[in-house]
Amino acid sequence: MKNQNNLRNFCIISHIDHGKSTLADRFLELTKTIDKNKMREQFLDMMDLERERGITIKMQPVRMTYTLNDKRYILNLIDTPGHIDFSYEVSRSLTAVEGAILLVDGSKGIQAQTLYNLELAKKQNLVIIPVVNKIDLPQTRIDENKEELARLVDVSKDKILAISAKKGTNIENLLLEIIKRIPPPSTNFEKPLRALIFDSKYNPYKGVITYVRVVEGRIKSGQKIYLMAEEIQAEAKEIGFLKPEFFRQRELKAGEIGYIATGIKEPEKVRIGDTITILDSFVESLSGYKEPKPVVFASIYPENSDDYDLLKEALGELKLNDPSLNFEPEDRAVLGRGFRCGFLGSLHIEIVIERLRREFGLSLIISTPSVIYKIIDKKDKEVLIPSAVDWPASPDERTSRGGPDPLKIKETREPWVKLEIITPLNYLGPVLEISKNLQGKYLETRYLSREKALLVFEAPLREMIQGFYDRLKSVSQGFASMNYEILDFRPADLVKLEVLIAGKKEEAFSKIVPEEKAYLEGRKIVKKLKDVLPPQLFPVALQAAVGGKIIARETLSAKRKDVTAALYGGDYTRKKKLLDKQKKGKKKLKEKGEARIPPEVFLEIFKKI
Ligand code: GDP
Ligand code: MG
Repeated sequence: MKNQNNLRNFCIISHIDHGKSTLADRFLELTKTIDKNKMREQFLDMMDLERERGITIKMQPVRMTYTLNDKRYILNLIDTPGHIDFSYEVSRSLTAVEGAILLVDGSKGIQAQTLYNLELAKKQNLVIIPVVNKIDLPQTRIDENKEELARLVDVSKDKILAISAKKGTNIENLLLEIIKRIPPPSTNFEKPLRALIFDSKYNPYKGVITYVRVVEGRIKSGQKIYLMAEEIQAEAKEIGFLKPEFFRQRELKAGEIGYIATGIKEPEKVRIGDTITILDSFVESLSGYKEPKPVVFASIYPENSDDYDLLKEALGELKLNDPSLNFEPEDRAVLGRGFRCGFLGSLHIEIVIERLRREFGLSLIISTPSVIYKIIDKKDKEVLIPSAVDWPASPDERTSRGGPDPLKIKETREPWVKLEIITPLNYLGPVLEISKNLQGKYLETRYLSREKALLVFEAPLREMIQGFYDRLKSVSQGFASMNYEILDFRPADLVKLEVLIAGKKEEAFSKIVPEEKAYLEGRKIVKKLKDVLPPQLFPVALQAAVGGKIIARETLSAKRKDVTAALYGGDYTRKKKLLDKQKKGKKKLKEKGEARIPPEVFLEIFKKI
């Protein structure tokens, strides 16, 4: 075993907004990695979307050099996101490094994601350097923060550094501590190559570019490589470091972080967590990653049905860069062809949609997100239900279809989470109040300091994607923070809410809801339908039903109203199209005696209910 003595690999972890990317800026300046005139704030937030929102979505590795006492050090830094929906990015970053800076915003102190990320880093046995940031702010009490952190990380108070990433205070000191405290990677250059793919990206010329941590051995540009899990041969077309842009090299060695361009043109062939080795060498693959299971589902349809193939390609490419995204084709007659996609949370959905729009120029229709449910049948078989379409059909339908034996439901379940909330004590009352409405289970309160408490609950995931975070922020004026982890599936009384228009079931509008909320949801849907449906030639019944029983009803009267008003503002050509369609439709309807639902209405209801 040899050490890469002058090499240090580390990442910066923290709660969102505690200053990771800003601290990375100071390191980039200090090490002169980025030219002064090219420098901009939060440099490593390289996507426009990240810059506009001021949040980090992707991990970003960067290689820096720094000379201390005539010795040249190579520092590989990985900046990470803070939001819970992106913690898979954090956990992958942690496997590529030996140490982590745990950064805490001194004006806020420890927040929920601080705890969670610290736990992740501890599991990887990383050296942790706790740092208090934002000491330039008048409300930062350095001493209290150091005490709080010392207790959390279990180190003595004098080991904790205090910096201002914004003003650049104490940054060089921190760099020296990194060199001192974080060990160089232990490496073996002589063994055959084993490199862990921790991220990847698509490039039309170079194919899939993998971001790797070389664990053992070495790789030279042009060598034939082998991706072990997927059993794919390829060639290392180009290799190099990330500075953060691609910086070509002839060789990558054990301990280093860099990229290997594979020339592979099919994104689905490359899997994050796979091991790259040299073709025809015999090694055991690295343990890779446990892929996170998607827990929130939504359907995505192209607004223009001709864009289906484009959307498919786009999802494939995006998955390379965001392995927690899942998708499979779905066909709902009225909506055309689209995809049912699995996500890690609401922000994740928002970001994926936005990236599809920006990076691939797609116009999309998104369904209301729902959590994944589970049915246990009478034979104790478990079936996952990501969408209402997968719910077992009602008995009357089965007889008419003469289909397979009905799936007998013994129990229905929904995912639960362990929820941790950190709040200043003066907001404890209102925070507890809104937590009561979660229909969860209170576990414990721990006092982190004289002013701050950690509350632990178990609650249905459903509540997390229905605005709980916003409520928490608003009752605590932004001071409380939360984090959740998926626990398991627990019994819940769930029903399938169906919608009938003129007596005909419209499956695209079906939804799974808790039984106690069925009535409310049913009312909401029929009301909404009444608002957006165009006039019909005869009165039309709009009904919501559960298990064949009508629970809500509205009637769409036959008088004329403006079809287009509710749908689109101002776009004349679309308006005209709709009105033309209406004309044609009426003619057809007279012949058929059916209610007419333009596809636009389906889409409108689909995305807004
Ligand atoms: P990240 O989410 O952890 O990457 O945080 P950012 O680096 O994006 O910073 C979040 C916000 O905190 C930005 O508005 C920064 O300008 C600000 N910030 C970061 N470090 C400091 C600091 O030391 N002092 C002050 N006053 N603000 C800071
Ligand atoms: Mg950031």
